[in-house]
Amino acid sequence: MEGALTARDRVGIQDFVLLDSFTSETAFLDNLRKRFRENLIYTYIGTLLVSMNPYKDLEIYNLKQMELYMGVNFFELPPHLYALADNAYRTMLTEYNNHFILISGESGAGKTVASKKILQYYAVTCPSSDQLQSVRDRLLHSNPVLEAFGNAKTLRNDNSSRFGKYMDIQFDFKGEAVGGHILSYLLEKSRVVHQNHGERNFHIFYQLLSGGDDELLRWLGLERNAQKYCYLVQGECAKVSSINDKLDWRTVRKALSIISFGENDIEHLFGIIASVLHLGNIQYEGDGKSGNAMLSGNAELRWISKLLGVPLVALQEALTHRKIETSTEEVLSPLDVDQAYYARDALAKAIYGRTFTWLVKKINESLENQDATRKTVIGLLDIYGFEVFSINSFEQFCINYCNEKLQQLFIQLTLKSEQEEYDLEGIEWEPVQFFNNRIICDLVEQKHKGVISILDEECMRPGEATDLTFLDKMEEKIGNHPHFVTHRLGDQKTRKTMERMDFRLLHYAGEVTYCVIGFLDKNNDLLYRNLKEVMCQTRNSIIKVCFEFLELDNRKRPETVATQFKNSLMELIEILTSKEPSYVRCLKPNDAKQAGHFDDVLVRHQVKYLGLMEHLRVRRAGFAYRRRYEIFLQRYKPLCPATWPHWHGPPAQGVETLVKYIGYKPEEYKLGRTKIFIRHPKTLFATEDAFQIC
Ligand code: ADP
Ligand code: MG
Repeated sequence: MEGALTARDRVGIQDFVLLDSFTSETAFLDNLRKRFRENLIYTYIGTLLVSMNPYKDLEIYNLKQMELYMGVNFFELPPHLYALADNAYRTMLTEYNNHFILISGESGAGKTVASKKILQYYAVTCPSSDQLQSVRDRLLHSNPVLEAFGNAKTLRNDNSSRFGKYMDIQFDFKGEAVGGHILSYLLEKSRVVHQNHGERNFHIFYQLLSGGDDELLRWLGLERNAQKYCYLVQGECAKVSSINDKLDWRTVRKALSIISFGENDIEHLFGIIASVLHLGNIQYEGDGKSGNAMLSGNAELRWISKLLGVPLVALQEALTHRKIETSTEEVLSPLDVDQAYYARDALAKAIYGRTFTWLVKKINESLENQDATRKTVIGLLDIYGFEVFSINSFEQFCINYCNEKLQQLFIQLTLKSEQEEYDLEGIEWEPVQFFNNRIICDLVEQKHKGVISILDEECMRPGEATDLTFLDKMEEKIGNHPHFVTHRLGDQKTRKTMERMDFRLLHYAGEVTYCVIGFLDKNNDLLYRNLKEVMCQTRNSIIKVCFEFLELDNRKRPETVATQFKNSLMELIEILTSKEPSYVRCLKPNDAKQAGHFDDVLVRHQVKYLGLMEHLRVRRAGFAYRRRYEIFLQRYKPLCPATWPHWHGPPAQGVETLVKYIGYKPEEYKLGRTKIFIRHPKTLFATEDAFQIC
């Protein structure tokens, strides 16, 4: 009897905190499912926003919707990303503090889409003078460029981010967007030379081939057909139905101009992209007697030499030899065929990776705020989500470690600090149990006996250490850790599902089995010295910035990839902890990228590991809002004759007088040592409304 259902039965409840009966996982899932069926993809847990990927376009991101949410109190309208974005923005303006929005969830859950929608919201709704129009345009157009070079089709997501991105949007005191800054994290460079079945290389290669005009392709020596390029055919899926490479090419081309890349830069940039494709087509043969690598032809070499502006002979030599330095002399030693392919791929990865870094730097220059006056920021964090494939390698290890760190931050900032604050403030409180993933972060990053340390140690023993000795060392040092398993250490059941070359980490989001093959190489990320030397001789303006002679003089061992990544994540956490957080937790309804299908088991799993139930419990038992007495009093003192215009006693007493006067009921608030705690946001909003009127 459809007609007998109340609206609430049909569309569920928009804030889980208000779910009456009980806080069971089943009730939680029922509510999510109901709302999903009605295309209501957003639901709150207090101020946290849960988002469910609809896998179809909904009419909820238009101008009308944006205007609806501008300046409205958080809970007065149905849940929306815009409400969350607007709330961060308004708070920033009234309290002059910095904010960040942490968007998390596994690969394909909708993080990147969410971050783009938030950016658009600010671009459209924030006040802006004509002069600042260009800043907004550049902020918006940085996205398609970075996605073209940093995103790719994977089995989980047709537009998967293969780098992490943290973007600060800077606002002046009037609330105008005046600039921005992007930090990028570990790009998955290995994709340039290798893709698994069903996956693609970075979008830009396909965009260039389908969209570039004939003249450009001729100048780059490229054919339109992606099948001609070894670096593009491994996944056997150059064409993807959900992606229009030709159209995207136009968007990217236009965006590059808007972000003020000069024509010269653009030409050199595509020269590099083409060179990578040519590099991939270089083939070697073994010399019959010695087995030394010889180039099969030199057509590709000529193109690379032309496009990168490097001497052909030197390039040829560097692609077939290695320079070994002894204390007295340099000796050229010929490479065998495998080593030569390795050198070729290393060069392709280095060129692409460094060009990506250059691109981010260039975008940052164009987003730079020229005005030195006081500003506040809202940071948007959109990083690769937790990822499990049938074979997982060093890249998945880094990505999943990153997600552990973000989960740890979330726990620190919500569950843990919330409860600690109640203790500190002397507020009575029933503690909520939660799983703290600190133990897994430690397992990965601890000095001397964490996975990264062990890996780095093995990387310090060239010639002796192998991926397998790395595995042995882990078994020796962390073999009895509850979150670490290998084939040898596992029980009989485990052994059936693991190979000798695997190790398994029991992540907060589930188990992942990593194959150690390639870990040492990828962590070392070596590029032979003579290849660097050739690159330093370039006439390509971008490569020139990317490979500097200075690097050749530096004899110090560079930091390994994993350690660099670990350090950059630590810096990120530091950046974030100094700001006020808002959270978007993205969920995916199914693994088939399908609209309308809600996979109970899959969603339940995500709800569990994202800690949503614990978060809800803390929220329900707790207080949605808290303000320091001074701030609360300062703002609302006009509402009470005893506190206006001046209160002469301690601020705590002033607040008590004030809230009693305006009629807060005893169960609606609690007074702590330094702050007032308010149970429901509605109470605070009513006060705010009264303040606006008075
Ligand atoms: P993530 O960054 O979490 O890996 P994406 O944001 O790239 O995932 O989303 C994957 C795909 O899901 C998108 O390309 C889009 O097709 C779809 N999608 C995600 N969020 C939405 C949304 N809010 N509305 C419509 N489609 C969405
Ligand atoms: Mg993404």
